[in-house]
Amino acid sequence: MVGVDDPPRRPQLRRADRLDLILDRDGPRCVWCGRSFAALVRPTTDHLVPRVKGGPSWLENEIAACARCNNERGHLTPVDWLAECERRGWQPDRTAVGAALTRLQDAIAERGGARRAARYLDGQLRRWS
Ligand SMILES: [Zn+2]
Repeated sequence: MVGVDDPPRRPQLRRADRLDLILDRDGPRCVWCGRSFAALVRPTTDHLVPRVKGGPSWLENEIAACARCNNERGHLTPVDWLAECERRGWQPDRTAVGAALTRLQDAIAERGGARRAARYLDGQLRRWS
């Protein structure tokens, strides 16, 4: 059942189509570890603000991450997981992650709602450096 407070704002895209759009936007690499996607480094859609933290199912809340990073990040915040990636000697795409944080903030400001995600993002952007 479609909730009355959750009208479709655009045609729903299939997962593969969403992933294609994200890869076009962010490039063919995992934003967290920097590895290029290939047969053994499968791309997945990772939620910038996790669903359990109120992250919306919008393209603006989805980034391309390899299955390993998506899995190992768990519910860590983007700022904490980025620091962990750097601690491990990986090359996360700081530019893409920073752009994703502000893009999602802009989308929430434009569409409204997603108040939990907005608070989460405010905290992340305060810690962003
Ligand atoms: Zn990765």
